[in-house]
Amino acid sequence: MVSRLVLVLGDQLSEGLSALAAAEKGSDVVVMAEVSEEATYVQHHPKKIAFIFSAMRKFAARLRDDGWDVRYTRLDDAENAGSIHGELLRRAEETGAFEVIATQPGEWRLIEALEDMPLRLTMKPDTRFVSTQDEFDTWAEGRKALRMEYFYRDMRRKTGLLMDGDDPVGGQWNYDAENRKPAPDDIAFSGPMQFTPDETVQEVLDLVEARFGNSFGSLRPFWFATDQAQARRALSHFITYALPRFGDFQDAMMNDNRFLYHALVSPYMNVGLLDPMEVCRAAEDAYTDGHAPLNAVEGFIRQIIGWREYVRRIYFREGPDYTRRNALDHQRRLPDFYWTGETDMNCLSKAITQTADEAYAHHIQRLMVTGNFALLAGVDPHEVHEWYLRVYIDAFEWVEAPNVVGMSQFADGGIIASKPYVSSGSYINRMSDYCKSCRYRVQDKTGKDACPFNLLYWHFLDRHSETFAGNPRMNQIYANWRRMDDGRKQTILSEAEAFLETLGA
Ligand SMILES: Cc1cc2nc3c(=O)[nH]c(=O)nc-3n(C[C@H](O)[C@H](O)[C@H](O)COP(=O)(O)OP(=O)(O)OC[C@H]3O[C@@H](n4cnc5c(N)ncnc54)[C@H](O)[C@@H]3O)c2cc1C
Ligand code: SF4
Repeated sequence: MVSRLVLVLGDQLSEGLSALAAAEKGSDVVVMAEVSEEATYVQHHPKKIAFIFSAMRKFAARLRDDGWDVRYTRLDDAENAGSIHGELLRRAEETGAFEVIATQPGEWRLIEALEDMPLRLTMKPDTRFVSTQDEFDTWAEGRKALRMEYFYRDMRRKTGLLMDGDDPVGGQWNYDAENRKPAPDDIAFSGPMQFTPDETVQEVLDLVEARFGNSFGSLRPFWFATDQAQARRALSHFITYALPRFGDFQDAMMNDNRFLYHALVSPYMNVGLLDPMEVCRAAEDAYTDGHAPLNAVEGFIRQIIGWREYVRRIYFREGPDYTRRNALDHQRRLPDFYWTGETDMNCLSKAITQTADEAYAHHIQRLMVTGNFALLAGVDPHEVHEWYLRVYIDAFEWVEAPNVVGMSQFADGGIIASKPYVSSGSYINRMSDYCKSCRYRVQDKTGKDACPFNLLYWHFLDRHSETFAGNPRMNQIYANWRRMDDGRKQTILSEAEAFLETLGA
């Protein structure tokens, strides 16, 4: 019998993967490859490459132990063809196979590359999600706006998570209003579980250092989980020690604490080491056992079966041109300090330095610091998208692009966000301790020490008034702008212009 090739990509490290389920263990051949095309089509953070290659090597070993014939190509193997399709063709020649079974990749670029190959392709849907695309498209049919909240409620009903019959546990679907406490004085959590690199990881770290050591970000110390058992320990550590306070301080930011009560499970879910339902059930059990309060558990579950599922479906619904959208026609180049952290704006400096060190920043840092600034300054959303795709360990296009292009930059014209996520310095001041140690003064609206977010906020609203002044959710803000006297408006706008000049082209 002629064997078939079973493609397993670096973010498909799940034993229940649809491609594996459709294959025959005794006769089909699993193909896994560390290829330079995937590692370099954008210059990923070295921690991200090390995480994926380490997890791939361990997963391949696990499949072999389980009886699969795995043909694994390491980055430095002499015969490495350098791309996924090149490796598939090489393995096809080696084995005589002419058919590939794949699980749908999470990126249009790779889907198109597979479809273009001169091999017969069976592409299975990726079933590691709670929703299906058909289900989402049916839900979206005829709706004027695709608001996450309503989709999320359907996902609660579908999974039964935090449900009491047909009703949400506690009587409310969403406890977000309780989850906006500002930065606390102290954090009673020592951070995510960290793992000492074993032999497999050490070997990958040396390889990545030699090949990608000059990319943005620090490779070491490297402490992420790289197999399922470790990822489960990391999840359990979060549920025990952080989940109870996750909700309260979900949006807070601190100079001296990079993780607060966040879970750091996105990398593990995104490559397949953790299943989203397993993560949600563990959180639900913590509520049922009285270990964690409802606002924390509901907030956490909503991020996963709500936002995570929703952005996945938007990515595949909107099609391959999504990352090129630019509804606000923003053209500015990304300021250099996004690559160095060298700016007097303390919030940006802290979020970017942390990103370089950890390949991680939490949601509000991504949305309301780096994203907010790029949107206010009018940076080209495609450049912003590429920055996020490069620098975060959990960045895969299906999840990164809707968050950046849609939610953060409003470049899709409002498919994801009903209004732009912009704020002046006062939001950052309320939610963090960044402003206390900044060279700018957050309370100053104009003048040489004025917080740049304050200036740019009005500049953004003024230059986009045609687009947003009619938005009912922005009425109040525009009414405030209109009430301001003309001289003050002019001072704000000209100081904002002068600041933008300092950012370069
Ligand atoms: C501009 C921007 C870019 C982002 N890029 C990515 C990305 O490339 N990859 C990624 O996984 N997430 C991305 N997010 C969502 C979110 O910031 C991360 O999922 C989260 O910070 C991961 O850290 P955590 O596991 O500690 O999350 P927690 O705060 O502990 O949340 C729990 C889980 O909820 C899920 N989640 C929360 N918010 C979202 C969301 N908006 N979309 C999808 N899943 C969500 C994640 O899986 C996360 O692990 C982005 C958000 C923004 C605003
Ligand atoms: S004063 Fe402005 S620039 Fe400085 S940390 Fe606060 S928000 Fe950021």
